[in-house]
Amino acid sequence: MELSKYITTIPNYPEDGVEFKDITPLLINRDAFRFALSEFEKHFIDDDVQYIAGIEARGFLFASALADRLNCGLIPIRKAGKLPGEVLTKEYELEYGKAELEIRKDTLPTGARVLIVDDVLATGGTAICAANLLGGVGADIIGFAFLASLLFLEGERKLHGYRTVTLVKYE
Ligand code: AMP
Repeated sequence: MELSKYITTIPNYPEDGVEFKDITPLLINRDAFRFALSEFEKHFIDDDVQYIAGIEARGFLFASALADRLNCGLIPIRKAGKLPGEVLTKEYELEYGKAELEIRKDTLPTGARVLIVDDVLATGGTAICAANLLGGVGADIIGFAFLASLLFLEGERKLHGYRTVTLVKYE
């Protein structure tokens, strides 16, 4: 199945100059959504994944379904101010300005094997921030899974040294 058919490019959204990859058509189509999950599952079925970390918000959509398939726990990596309890916070660069992600400190046993999942890899700032947070709470990061990567933004360079699986690549 050609998954790219189910991802629409919306020019100048949410701001001028951004080509937004809208995954809604893929989510709506049960065959496409199931196919994407099956592809992720095939890549990681033998990796003894113990937890899937999903990045807010669209990462949660794939992370939770994949956690069920791989029989894993689910770790939410959230935007600042959304998690109760003691949290670890890290700042990351956006195209314009900065933002913060958080993880609960009591989330994981040390050395837990974690796969990080998000919908789109762009510059890689979000993904590396998530990896740093997980590293900060003792995780052993297996790698990253993205539905789509914008290769021209060179996010994979930031993730150098980590295993990265991407289902749809935009040159
Ligand atoms: P980055 O930190 O630049 O790699 O941005 C990745 C995060 O921002 C992901 O959580 C994506 O959901 C979102 N994102 C960035 N650029 C796009 C885009 N062009 N289309 C859709 N989502 C994007």
